[in-house]
This record gives sequence, C-alpha cells and structure tokens, in this order.
Amino acid sequence: LLSKLPDVGVSIFTQMTLLAQETGAINLAQGFPDYDPPQELLEALARHALTPGHHQYAPMPGLPRLREAISTQVGRLHANAPAPDPATEITVTAGATEALYAVLAAVVRPGDEVLVFEPAYDLYGPAIRLQGGVPRYVRLPAPHFRPDWDAVRRVVSPRTRLVMINTPHNPSGAIFTADDWNELARLLAGTDAMVLSDEVYEHLVFDGAPRLSARQHPELRERSFVLSSFGKTYHATGWKVGYCIAPPALSAEVRRVHQFLTFAVSTPTQHALADVLTADTTDAHAHGLAGFYQQKRDEFRGLLAGQGWDLLPVPGGYFQLARYDAFSPATDLAFAQFLAREKGVAVVPVSAFYHDGFDDGLIRFCFAKHGETLAAAAARLR
Ligand code: PMP
Ligand code: GLN
Repeated sequence: LLSKLPDVGVSIFTQMTLLAQETGAINLAQGFPDYDPPQELLEALARHALTPGHHQYAPMPGLPRLREAISTQVGRLHANAPAPDPATEITVTAGATEALYAVLAAVVRPGDEVLVFEPAYDLYGPAIRLQGGVPRYVRLPAPHFRPDWDAVRRVVSPRTRLVMINTPHNPSGAIFTADDWNELARLLAGTDAMVLSDEVYEHLVFDGAPRLSARQHPELRERSFVLSSFGKTYHATGWKVGYCIAPPALSAEVRRVHQFLTFAVSTPTQHALADVLTADTTDAHAHGLAGFYQQKRDEFRGLLAGQGWDLLPVPGGYFQLARYDAFSPATDLAFAQFLAREKGVAVVPVSAFYHDGFDDGLIRFCFAKHGETLAAAAARLR
C-alpha cells in the first residue's frame, strides 16, 4: 500500500505516553488533566446514561438544547459579537479534532495553500496534506511566539485558501491581541481566504489579559470557523465533544463533511453538557478556569524555580515551555527520552510541532495536574 502520509509516525503525544507507561514516569507530556470533570457534570452524565430514550443518534448538527446553551454562553462571552444562531451557525463535533478535519476537508482543494504558524499542533500539517492542500509555514520565534506580520505578508498569496490560528497557542500559550486580529483582517481584506481559529484553550488566559475570539472582529467573523472543545473546558478530554461556530454558508459546508465523517456526536454526553451549561447562567465555570490554571502555572513555576531551567512566559493554555541548555546540549527528543528514562518525568520535545523538526532546545510540560503530581515531578527533576 502506498501511504498517503509516509513521513508521519505515531503522534508524539502517544509516543511519550507509552514511554511514561513503560518507564513509570510521571506523565507531563500529553495534554490532559489528572483530575476529573466537575461533579455536577458527572452526575448529569449518569442521569442521562440512565434515561431511556437518550441512546440513539443525536441530530446531525448536535442536540438542539446543547446548541442553544452554547449560543447563549458564547453570546455572553464574546462581547460585541451577536450570539451565534444555534440552527445555522453551531455544529457539535467529536472533539475539536473532528471540527479541524471537517473544516479542512470542507474548504481545502488540491493545490490550495494554508497558512500555518509554527510551532503547530501536530494534526494541522498532515490533515491539510490529506486534502491535497499545501501548508505554508511561518515561524513564531521564542520566547514570545508572536507573529511577525511582515513575514506573514510575504507568504500570503492569491492561492491562500485558509489561515490557521491557535489562540491561546499550543505549545507556547501565546495569545492573539487586538492588534494581531487587526493585522490579519487587513491582510485578508479583498481576498476570499478564510480563517480557522482553534480556540480550544479560550478560557485559559492569564494575568488579566483580554481574551479575544476571531468572532469578535466583525470582518473576520464573516470568514471564520471558530473551534472550541469541552475536553479542555470541562477537564473531559476523553469525552471528545467540541464544536465549530461559523456563518451559515460556512457551517453548511462543515456539516456536509461532518454528516459523513461522524454523522453525530454521542447523545448522553451532549445532554450532560447541555444541563451543566444551561444551569451556569453566570458562566462561573468558564470564568473560574483562568484563575484555576494561573494558580497551577504559578505553582509549577515556583516548584521548578532555582533548578536551572529557563522557563518561558506562559500567557495562556496549560503548558510550560522550558529551555534546558544549562543541563545538556542534547536534541530535544534525546533530552525528553532521558528525562523519562532517567528522571521519571515525561515531557514533549517541541521539535514535534515543526514540519521540518526544527529543534530550538525546548521541552513542554503539561501543568494540568494535581498539586501533588506537580510537586512529585519537580522533586524528581531536582
Ligand atoms: N487543537 C489544539 C491546539 C489542541 O491542543 C487540542 C487538544 N490536544 C485539540 C485541538 C483537539 O481537541 P479535542 O481533544 O477536543 O479533539
Ligand atoms: N492536545 C494534546 C496535547 O497537545 C494531545 C491530544 C492527542 O494526544 N491527540 O498534548
């Protein structure tokens, strides 16, 4: 069989999780919390699991009551943007992963160029290429990982079909500012390029920085697919429920793909999420996440302080990047393997986020962990 992705192996997240299992290392590699979703969400799931009639196919675009609840909450949180229409603008997907794939399959034609900022989440490049698209990469420089808009301008062309944004950014936590959104809008004005804005860490914005969605920019809203994930927001990465918000014409295209990709998302999880979202009329859970994760960030940085790491700034998300050149000249992959095998802590080498394996000597820790887990990892690293 001639592989369509001959250069793609097992994802780095799976590799490092397997290495952690094999070595008994504490897994700060793959991004997932070691705590459970809120009790009321678990109780809601149990309730719906025991409810007759909640176990067959959900409607293709998502349960109406979940789309209503998403619309109401997004309408409150995205200041200056109208609430998305649950009937025509919101599609519930099997995690943000399915939404990413459905958007790319819906809009990228063979030969179309897709602008990708690197480091980039590992799915982006391969999923673009599976559509026959051509990823055009623009590097975000450490330590702030801010876009250089002159460099972006040099890469955008009439063949640019889509620009992929990830804010807050995995792995760096960098956040798009109002100026960044304005630059992007200026750049795309007069073109028919679209925007995919991966906002799965949307609530994890620290130090009081403004959190801005592509939807809050009026010109960008018209051409944007905005993605989020209940896996991140509700500490439920294993549920695989997310959604895509886009104007009706764009949502219609996403739904054409979604109906043949997964058709619909599991019914009881959608009911449970709808219950909890509907009950949270003040968005207390979403608003609480910034403080919750900022405290974990500060705790983890405090634990590692004085060990010799160069800890990069973390404006958002749940990952800490660290430069290890004080300890070792090894490649980031070799250093990550050494940490798992010899120190008992699994991390992700950041070169995995570059199509060409660019190695800047950085590793990524996930701090979405209990305080005891973080303390135990720091003690092993000391
Ligand atoms: N985008 C980014 C930037 C992510 O970090 C993740 C989660 N690893 C996803 C998308 C996928 O989200 P989900 O788990 O909801 O499929
Ligand atoms: N998003 C997670 C991370 O960045 C990984 C998810 C996965 O393993 N596909 O670690």
